[in-house]
Amino acid sequence: MGVFFPPPFSRSYQDLQNESLVSQLVIIPIFILCDDIFTFIVHFLLHKIPYVYKYVHYLHHEIKYSVSIGSQYFHPIEFLVTVPAVMSGPLLTHAHLFWSFVWTVVKTFEAIHSHSGFDFMKYYRTSPVTKSILLDASEHTYHHTHYQDCYGAWYCLIDKLIGTNLNFVKFTEKKQYSKDK
Ligand SMILES: [Zn+2]
Ligand SMILES: [Zn+2]
Repeated sequence: MGVFFPPPFSRSYQDLQNESLVSQLVIIPIFILCDDIFTFIVHFLLHKIPYVYKYVHYLHHEIKYSVSIGSQYFHPIEFLVTVPAVMSGPLLTHAHLFWSFVWTVVKTFEAIHSHSGFDFMKYYRTSPVTKSILLDASEHTYHHTHYQDCYGAWYCLIDKLIGTNLNFVKFTEKKQYSKDK
């Protein structure tokens, strides 16, 4: 793994064979981390710049109750500013083109899952370890129904760090309280 340039697409099959097992094992988690951070930054700005929110990002928010196909429904300008964030992992690590393809597939599944409205994993989230690893669509579902907060992808790490998920946490606690009553 190198840093920044040259871009990933110039590398040969031989380069892929020469990659160490360690770098092959950690590369997708690194992509996830980069995507979570840079998607937060881009998405946060799409909301906080009023003109941009109204004329660009609001198109995606026309879908209030999220459905998987809605993950691909957005303004072309949003596509242009989001792709560098999504591909930040492969670009920053100078990953082989093969990993960029793998990442594109993985990220597409993440986008489909986060807009599904379902929490498929809740039945498997039985221990603190699996609870922190398995994905949850409810954060992005909250984002669509409330038009704010939970701006990150995957684990919403920056949201958890700076508190832009606090309203979501209160909301889920209240929901649980009403259910238990
Ligand atoms: Zn949004
Ligand atoms: Zn969305």
